[in-house]
Amino acid sequence: MSAAKKADKPVAAETMPSGTTSGTPQILLAHHLKQLRLPTILREYDKVAREAAREGIDHTAYLLRLVELELIDRERRVVERRIRQARFPAVKSLDTFDFVAIPSLNKMLVLELARCEYILRRDNIIALGNSGTGKTHIGLSLGLAACQKGFSVAFTTAASLVHQLMEARDERRLLKLQRDLAAVKLLIIDELGYVPLSTTGAELLFEVFSQRYERGSTIVTSNLPFEEWTSVFGVERLTGALLDRLTHHVHILSMNGESYRLTQSARSRKLAVTDANDQSAVEDVDPDTGEITVR
Ligand code: ADP
Ligand code: MG
Repeated sequence: MSAAKKADKPVAAETMPSGTTSGTPQILLAHHLKQLRLPTILREYDKVAREAAREGIDHTAYLLRLVELELIDRERRVVERRIRQARFPAVKSLDTFDFVAIPSLNKMLVLELARCEYILRRDNIIALGNSGTGKTHIGLSLGLAACQKGFSVAFTTAASLVHQLMEARDERRLLKLQRDLAAVKLLIIDELGYVPLSTTGAELLFEVFSQRYERGSTIVTSNLPFEEWTSVFGVERLTGALLDRLTHHVHILSMNGESYRLTQSARSRKLAVTDANDQSAVEDVDPDTGEITVR
């Protein structure tokens, strides 16, 4: 009979120091676990030892339980780190996205993209549509899904990216930034088209797309249809070359529709009016923020 099956087998907790005393073994153990970077085992070993003692679990099962806890926690920490490194302005997921509100968007395609296989194929995604239709929300959700699946992600707006590139160039660290941008598995460039770019800005942005071409996936969101992209990049030749690279392997998300912000504001406004039963109030809705001002 193996030691594990004996009724009077030694249980882990009997040989474990109790966590409240500060004897040498605990101090050494804490030190070694820190050095080995096993924070969950350090936090849990005493509690799990007591559980093991109660349940009559042997040393091997006790160790297995601790190692499993560390692994689960480590995976969570890695995902959290990737999310921090992605620099999302907000963490949003598809769970809170209402597909009914935007019928032009292909829900099946979005759900398929959330599985992240396009990243392995280095495909790109372009989300096009007017303001407030959830393009940023979708970009953030796909970015989050990629973090959870283990891909490195970076989120930025086109304006901010161009600003960073110009700054890096002035400070003679453009190559390093370009290398970092090319290395990330998924780069999300939000709001292309909101601000027209200078010639240098357009060229620097074009280089980013060029360097990522067939190396990593890029998601671009824009309020402009392709025909108007020349107005952002200024130069027609550049726009053509850029579209060429970007649309080689691309999934287009068509997101034209009513602004979600405005629809939500109108709904809450209607509720507010019904609640107050005050038909005389006149409200203005800010198209950008959805904020309601009552006059
Ligand atoms: P866009 O980037 O297209 O201008 P956003 O993604 O910024 O639009 O959406 C504006 C706000 O409305 C955000 O807070 C977003 O989370 C929310 N929103 C937009 N569309 C939806 C939707 N279909 N379901 C849930 N929330 C949405
Ligand atoms: Mg947006």
